[in-house]
Amino acid sequence: MKSDVKRKIEKLLSSANLRRTGPRVAILSVLLGARKPQTAGQIAANLAPAGPNKITIYRTLESFSAAGLVHKVFLQGRTWHFELSGNCTESQCHPHFTCTNCGDMQCLTEMTLPMAESPHKGFVIGRQRVQLEGLCPKCNLNLYSCEVRCKDFL
Ligand SMILES: [Zn+2]
Ligand SMILES: [Zn+2]
Repeated sequence: MKSDVKRKIEKLLSSANLRRTGPRVAILSVLLGARKPQTAGQIAANLAPAGPNKITIYRTLESFSAAGLVHKVFLQGRTWHFELSGNCTESQCHPHFTCTNCGDMQCLTEMTLPMAESPHKGFVIGRQRVQLEGLCPKCNLNLYSCEVRCKDFL
């Protein structure tokens, strides 16, 4: 493991007041290297065969989540996707974009959206999580070039 990754992991664990254990370090190293939210299964596959099992990984992710170190990003087919909370603010997670054509999902870490305001009395909005859908650049380009090439047949 690279020394800057090691240092980042030390910092994350101490900021959350969590003891340094093998599984914690291994899971954080996967999350630090990931560019997308990860499921416990994906992390297990990444760390196999020497890594912790899926149950340990899931429990560790839950404890990271309780400590605010990671966020549960979204639920897909009853499976939570997790990512480090470093790219989010106190009140808002960065938006996620899903391509409706190829299913690819991306973190829009550069994008911030205005906080929603509740029109109803009594609701307190604590955190905003937004999922956007549409076409990714690759699919947008493919569909567009098809439109150009196929227009004689339409
Ligand atoms: Zn796509
Ligand atoms: Zn993300």
